[in-house]
Amino acid sequence: MSWRYRCGACRTISTHDHQHQADSERYDHIATVHRGRIPEDDEVRPLTEEELAHSRPAWRPPYPADRPPQQQKPNQPFALALLVVLLLVGWGLYSLLPID
Ligand SMILES: [Zn+2]
Repeated sequence: MSWRYRCGACRTISTHDHQHQADSERYDHIATVHRGRIPEDDEVRPLTEEELAHSRPAWRPPYPADRPPQQQKPNQPFALALLVVLLLVGWGLYSLLPID
């Protein structure tokens, strides 16, 4: 059975595979969008047969809830190679200076 959460204030709807997912979406929406205040006419209910026939696939979080998104690692080997090249160029330019 599929479930849906609808916020009456925002008029947004999300569909979910299980009721606890729709309840979780409701709590997250209230906390983040409405700063803990319950919007008018929000509801969690099962989808009707007609809604199921015309519904999009259930919403999924972009990553598992227990794991944060991957941080992009800095390219350390490239930065080290660039530093060495810059030091060599600087040393070469310094050696060209007419210092007696
Ligand atoms: Zn809302």
